[in-house]
Amino acid sequence: MKELYAQLGISSAVYDFGKTVEDSLKERFEKFDKTAEYNQMKVIHAMQKNRVSEACFGASSGYGYNDLGRETLEQVYADTFHTEACLVRPQITCGTHALAIALFGNLRPGDELLSPVGKPYDTLEEVIGIRPSNGSLAEYGVKYRQVDLLEDGTFDYENIRKAVNEKTKLVTIQRSKGYQTRPSFSVKQIGELISFVKKIKPDVICMVDNCYGEFVDTIEPSDVGADIMVGSLIKNPGGGLAPIGGYIAGRKDCVENASYRMTCPGLGMEVGATLGVNRSLYQGFFLAPMITKGALKGAVFAANIYEKLGFPVVPNSTEPRQDIIQAVTLGTPEGLVAFCQGIQAAAPVDSFVTPEPWDMPGYDSQVIMAAGAFIQGSSIELSADGPMKPPYAVYFQGGLTWEHAKLGILKSLQYMVDKELVSL
Ligand SMILES: *Cc1c(COP(=O)(O)O)cnc(C)c1O
Repeated sequence: MKELYAQLGISSAVYDFGKTVEDSLKERFEKFDKTAEYNQMKVIHAMQKNRVSEACFGASSGYGYNDLGRETLEQVYADTFHTEACLVRPQITCGTHALAIALFGNLRPGDELLSPVGKPYDTLEEVIGIRPSNGSLAEYGVKYRQVDLLEDGTFDYENIRKAVNEKTKLVTIQRSKGYQTRPSFSVKQIGELISFVKKIKPDVICMVDNCYGEFVDTIEPSDVGADIMVGSLIKNPGGGLAPIGGYIAGRKDCVENASYRMTCPGLGMEVGATLGVNRSLYQGFFLAPMITKGALKGAVFAANIYEKLGFPVVPNSTEPRQDIIQAVTLGTPEGLVAFCQGIQAAAPVDSFVTPEPWDMPGYDSQVIMAAGAFIQGSSIELSADGPMKPPYAVYFQGGLTWEHAKLGILKSLQYMVDKELVSL
């Protein structure tokens, strides 16, 4: 084994350091195995209940009327997530698009949108119009309110109560921290927040941005009162096989409203050819609990490796996980670059290229990104990125197999060691 790792550029010292850390994680890993087993059964049960068959893997074209595979898959998602309905479509281009459809479909001019969990994901700022943007909700007369989290990362219930008013139509809750330093929320915490909001205003629609959260726990936000739950198929639920897509699961009326934005009023979910991608969407969803488990093991391994070496990590080495993202504060530009170059060098695709910091549109500093993925931009595949500014934190996620995630982290460490940024 060690020899093979040596061929992949991992020194004996790095291998041994990794082994010690891995050996200490047996119990943690067993818990992930159990969660994955539970979720695997949930998915299989939904597939059997809905009589998934060879006929579901056919390709529709044109309008895509009566696409059995599409309709059955949407029911499989709905049953897995315990919702009345679900849209699962290759026409949904990404997570941001799915969230935008859900928002535009369910909000009307004069309504207020409330985020009780602070600033939403960067790309939503333009959807909502927090940053002025053509075609934003703000342009259509939808107002936005935000209540920041308290300093310790918990909900500011007092100010949330004040922010909910007669115009509040939809409350958006982002489960994962994304690229922020706040903690990600557990499903249980999200449930408590939803109950609180519904007590103030029972008819408010509670939407959860579930990106990176699917199958991390045995329950999902839809099990604790979320009316709408949204995610991307090039993250957890696509299982690495979905080449494109997003989902919107939830109450039937809310999902239908979203469908009139996905296509158009009148047509809704009745159209949308699947062009032959159904099989990958099914197979990806089938594998998703296991793929998510591998990514979680990688995240915990990274946290333990880098915490042991003295770097601040979020979540820390022992905290429970709510999503697959791991932040490591490397403290120096050289550290951030070395980390990302190591991840890239471990990839099955494009391992021979060297990531460099660049001026990415929409960011106020240079950004470095590492990704050697089969699907462009897929972040359920091993990937890492970070802004080139203090504190030089890297956000690391994914790995289609635990073994690959492990290689990526060892390789990142090897680069750090070779550049004399850490010593073992
Ligand atoms: C990834 C992500 C999104 C946006 O998804 P894209 O597919 O990149 O558009 C939104 N919210 C959160 C929390 C995410 O992690």
